[in-house]
Amino acid sequence: MLKRIWNLFTHRIDKELKILKHAYEEMPMEIALYDLDRNFSFLNRQFFTNGLDRNQFIGHDDHYYLNVLNIKNNVLEKRKEAFDTALQKKQAVRFTEKLILPDANKTLFFKRTFQPLFLNGDQTVSHMAFFGSNMTAVILSQQELKYLAFHDKLTGLMNRDAFNQQLDQLISESVRWPSEQIAGILFCDLDNFKLVNDSLGHDVGDLLLREVSARIASCLRQSDSIFRLGGDEFTVLLRNLKQDIDAGMVAEKLIKEISRPYQINEHSITYVTLSIGIGLFPKDGNERETIVSNADMAMYEAKRNSKNNYKFFSKDLTQTSKDRLKIVKGLKELINKKDFSNQFKMVYQPIFANKQNSDFSIVGSEALLRWNHPIHGNIPPDLFIPIAEESNLIQHFGDWIFQKSLSDFKLLNKLHPEGTFYISINLSAKQLDTPQIVSELEQAVLKALLSPRQVQIEITETGIIKDSAIAFKNLYILAEMGFRLAIDDFGVGFASLSYLQKIPASVIKIDKTFIQQSLTSTKNRDLVKAIIVMGQNLKKEVIAEGVEEKEHLSFLMKHNCYTYQGYYFSKPLDYIDMEQLLKKKK
Ligand code: C2E
Ligand code: CA
Ligand code: CA
Repeated sequence: MLKRIWNLFTHRIDKELKILKHAYEEMPMEIALYDLDRNFSFLNRQFFTNGLDRNQFIGHDDHYYLNVLNIKNNVLEKRKEAFDTALQKKQAVRFTEKLILPDANKTLFFKRTFQPLFLNGDQTVSHMAFFGSNMTAVILSQQELKYLAFHDKLTGLMNRDAFNQQLDQLISESVRWPSEQIAGILFCDLDNFKLVNDSLGHDVGDLLLREVSARIASCLRQSDSIFRLGGDEFTVLLRNLKQDIDAGMVAEKLIKEISRPYQINEHSITYVTLSIGIGLFPKDGNERETIVSNADMAMYEAKRNSKNNYKFFSKDLTQTSKDRLKIVKGLKELINKKDFSNQFKMVYQPIFANKQNSDFSIVGSEALLRWNHPIHGNIPPDLFIPIAEESNLIQHFGDWIFQKSLSDFKLLNKLHPEGTFYISINLSAKQLDTPQIVSELEQAVLKALLSPRQVQIEITETGIIKDSAIAFKNLYILAEMGFRLAIDDFGVGFASLSYLQKIPASVIKIDKTFIQQSLTSTKNRDLVKAIIVMGQNLKKEVIAEGVEEKEHLSFLMKHNCYTYQGYYFSKPLDYIDMEQLLKKKK
């Protein structure tokens, strides 16, 4: 009887144990049991064995386990230490483990716990339980997020945030550097990249950027880093330099490498070069912002010089280049926000004529851009327009100028008595050199319901002398479409007569400096006279700019120049004042 009860009892216990064991086996986490000699007495099914039969580890320790799995990194020491602490303190010890599996070429991350068990009925530890969760997926997705946050998708290079972070780190580590060690920060900006995008499309541009990244990488050492800040801007961080010249040598190598021709699909691209500005740490600033802005400024100088070269930052980079940088930054902000109306406005300077010796009447008005910057105040167009041209930014707001001037003109035109009124818009050489300029102007004119005959385009002599096929083609198309073309600032560039005949312009505007000096210098007086005669011979209308004094006017009239622009008549006016002026004349 007793035996039967005992059998029943043990049978029941066996059954419960079996269920429990089964539960442990199947539990979705790693469970193992160690004896106090650190040998495994149990491993559940989840326990990581890299596909090997887990039973072979029973009776063996971690040393054996890690050896069989060919895990060589410092896992054994870490486990031992955690085991000992749990045993000694009689409490659970948690730790993390990274298993590097060279055979499978993978790395796994685990969260681990050693949990002492007390099965002797007293306070002594009898066994050690071991629990683990595989965190690899979580860690990898965190790493991926981190990767995405710090890398540029297109080129796989690190991005601006990574650059800032690494430069900060370099600066903070520099306290431990030997005194002669320096670092170089290279600001690299491709020359003529926009042309690739504009003429061959963005896909080709993207491929080119990838190729550029690879070429930059091929010039650097393992300890250097490259970053793509955006667009065609890259930075290189050169650690461990001994002397300034080392940075210059890397720059030379980069310039040479980048200016080699590119073969992208069926296109051979030969005109992409590189401009580099170099800032040295700690010489050129010991804070990130300073050194970055100094390297940026040096890059700008390199671009301005001739492109395809490099420039070290130097303290004598003049105030002018700081101003230039301010302007470029300010314009880039506007372009990024695509909100020009906040800071830009157009003013209009009337152009007067007295053809039939009658009264002076308004025949046209020149649209002139004004920039009121929230911090720097009014920035004169003579200062920012040339900078916007050099840095290829003007193309981004040319269209705004057309739209604004033409929509204002559409209203002003209604107030003009004769209906022969025209608006004169300045076009810089860079704008004229883009393929889209014709359609931008065409669209703006259509949108304002105007005719091209009501629109004069002013181009400077020097603007066309560049011998650009695109610019010439555009000029001919614009003339064909009926736009009035004027050569602005005439006399400054001294283009040859034969050249001038090639430009389909019907108007020339004598540069204001000649008019202004016509009172004092015979030479200038003769020059003005000659231009007027030449204009008549070429059958072009002549407009005199910068007419400030009555004497200027009498001189011009005497020599048969009948169209004028200048302070004597009117300064450039806000839309409202221009409206008033036209109403008065009506
Ligand atoms: P510009 O095309 O030669 O424009 C004439 C400049 O002479 C204007 O200067 C005008 O205010 C000034 N002016 C007019 N009458 C007189 C006068 O009697 N005496 C003197 N001393 N100056 C006179 P502003 O507006 O400062 O423009 C300077 C230059 O900036 C322009 O020279 C033009 O090259 C450029 N610019 C201005 N607006 C635009 C624009 O919308 N687009 C482009 N591409 N360039 C522009
Ligand atoms: Ca002009
Ligand atoms: Ca002018």
